[in-house]
Amino acid sequence: MKVKLLDLRPQYQFIRDDLLKGIQNVCDAQSFILGENVRKLEEEIADYCNARYAVGVASGSDAILLSLMAIGVGPGDRVITIPYTFFATVSSIVRLGATPIFIDIEPETYNIDPNGLEHHIRKISNRKSHLSTLKAIIPVHLFGQCADMEPILSIARRYGLRVVEDAAQAIGAEYKGKKAGSMGDAGCLSFYPSKNLGGFGDGGMVLVQSKELEERMKVLRVHGSKSKYYHKYVGINSRLDEIQAAILRIKLKYLAKWEKRRIANARRYNQLFKESGLLGTVSIPRVYPHNLSVFNQYVVRVERRDALRTHLAKSGIGTEIYYPVPLHLQRCFKGLGYKRGDFPVSEKAARETIALPIYPELTEVEQRYVVSKIGKFYT
Ligand SMILES: *Cc1c(COP(=O)(O)O)cnc(C)c1O
Repeated sequence: MKVKLLDLRPQYQFIRDDLLKGIQNVCDAQSFILGENVRKLEEEIADYCNARYAVGVASGSDAILLSLMAIGVGPGDRVITIPYTFFATVSSIVRLGATPIFIDIEPETYNIDPNGLEHHIRKISNRKSHLSTLKAIIPVHLFGQCADMEPILSIARRYGLRVVEDAAQAIGAEYKGKKAGSMGDAGCLSFYPSKNLGGFGDGGMVLVQSKELEERMKVLRVHGSKSKYYHKYVGINSRLDEIQAAILRIKLKYLAKWEKRRIANARRYNQLFKESGLLGTVSIPRVYPHNLSVFNQYVVRVERRDALRTHLAKSGIGTEIYYPVPLHLQRCFKGLGYKRGDFPVSEKAARETIALPIYPELTEVEQRYVVSKIGKFYT
């Protein structure tokens, strides 16, 4: 048996005719840039995510970059985030000449530890130069579960910081009834093919709550010009393509159903690990009761992780390591001056976690196979 980490083919086969028709319509209209599909998708996604406005951009990475540009992050500024995330969360900060300030994660949710955040803020609160250059916090809703937003938003209010949610893995996720991406000043979504709502290439979107930020973002994505060839800011070229928007509008109709299946698959894994007596060996994901995770990834923590991964690969089971090197230890960020041991929870997670197949069309038979192969490895 072969179980891929992610198999996009069944989803494609299921709605193939609709998708191809959608692409054909764009081709027939020969309208490729910022047309009706992007405009409608922006409305539909804003609606799905309970946000006031949405702005389509070229990728999730650009969504973060443009959000930081729109709130005015620049050279000399500081932005707080976690070291255990996808590269783009941190590279967007660095690209703007700002400095990332890392806070370690919680061991069970892999999201920013609100106590660590509070501790850091208290530590710098009597250092005016630190506080005055601190501009924003980027909480990451890792693997599909929201970070603990209440303390984050409260700290942000207290110190006048902006909050940019990295919701690239968490479209549709909920925190105390609120949707991922709708709680901060900006919420960043990715339509990379492996995300829960994936296009046929790159794409992204920013959710915003204020008209002012929406307008600035729409100008920044077209080189900072409001009327063509007159530039108010130095923006970038970062638009969502009409073809991608047409595909995403069709897929969006099924997203809620697909997310339910991911959640059901996660529950089934939990049950199977329990029945197999593996709960002492395999730490299953912890989802807080106030959270609804959309399980972009089902990540477990194990001993002898790399050997397990090899063993599963030999059995035809695809897995992935998110993420093998925490960002404070990446060579390109050497200049930031961090060293091994600075963020022990992130470093431990990088050594022990492994993502198992969780996509919506995964079958019970396949899940049983995965769990049995893991059981075999540890007996
Ligand atoms: C995927 C992802 C991004 C970047 O999105 P792209 O569309 O690939 O540019 C940013 N942050 C996180 C946490 C992601 O998972």
